[in-house]
Amino acid sequence: MFESLQERLGSILNGLTGRGALSEADVTAALREVRRALIEADVALEVVRSFVEKVREKAVGAAVVKSIKPGQMVVKIVHDELVAMLGDEGKAIDLNAPAPVVIMMVGLQGSGKTTTTGKIAKRLTERQGKKVLMASLDTRRPAAQEQLRQLGEQVKVATLPIIAGQSPVDIARRAVQAGRLGGHDVVILDTAGRTHIDEPLMVEMADIRKVSSPHEILLVADALTGQDAVNLARNFDERVGITGLVLTRMDGDGRGGAALSMRAVTGKPVKLIGVGEKMDALEEFHPKRIADRILG
Ligand code: GDP
Repeated sequence: MFESLQERLGSILNGLTGRGALSEADVTAALREVRRALIEADVALEVVRSFVEKVREKAVGAAVVKSIKPGQMVVKIVHDELVAMLGDEGKAIDLNAPAPVVIMMVGLQGSGKTTTTGKIAKRLTERQGKKVLMASLDTRRPAAQEQLRQLGEQVKVATLPIIAGQSPVDIARRAVQAGRLGGHDVVILDTAGRTHIDEPLMVEMADIRKVSSPHEILLVADALTGQDAVNLARNFDERVGITGLVLTRMDGDGRGGAALSMRAVTGKPVKLIGVGEKMDALEEFHPKRIADRILG
């Protein structure tokens, strides 16, 4: 669909072979293309700006060697910097705490929280032999608790029995207690989302956090979030304090710029990516692959 960054930079820079070093003007022209590629990949503008400045520092004066075309050289600088900013390869969910280890899932409605809760529960059960309990804290959407119960049946993971009329905080407290009494290794709390960030949502998340002391707080976000990704990540991180990110819908057409945006503003690792609706469609995060995808 788009011309790749390599092709674009090639037409600007590849005539320069043998000139010694890239000039400021060459780099400025190249960075214009880098900026375009990142914006097309849905990286948030403020992140694009700081990223481009970092690349500028590395690219100006970089020696042009005969064996490598200048366009390729800039692509390599951009690629390496993207990988560095995207962070570590597949950081696992940290279960290194006294049982039951509480994982709190947060995010907007429709981001894929409930689905991801089921996927993580299945993975921890099947691959790591953990005894997991899931609980839905979504009391606003009547079907939400039932949706998680059905997922639990599907992946053969226990869910906290539903008691009508309890508040999210009550359910969180009961889940941790049930996890302890039932000898569960892990309790996953699937919190309620809203269509957008608002004050009551943040207060509710903070209250749930207080009563359940989660060891991991994972922000689940749609990979197609685009320019809103920075606000979303910053808000959840400042108000609730996240420990990691899960990007869903990476099976879609999006180029995954949200991964870079959210990682850049929070400094928190992308731990997993969702690649489909099925319960097995969860993968480790590979910064190199995402960098390739962002560059197109
Ligand atoms: P929640 O409101 O955040 O709990 O979102 P849900 O878990 O109910 O997910 C909303 C929709 O997104 C459902 O139809 C899911 O099947 C779908 N979904 C979740 N994760 C993925 C993913 O990684 N890829 C795709 N294609 N669909 C997903």
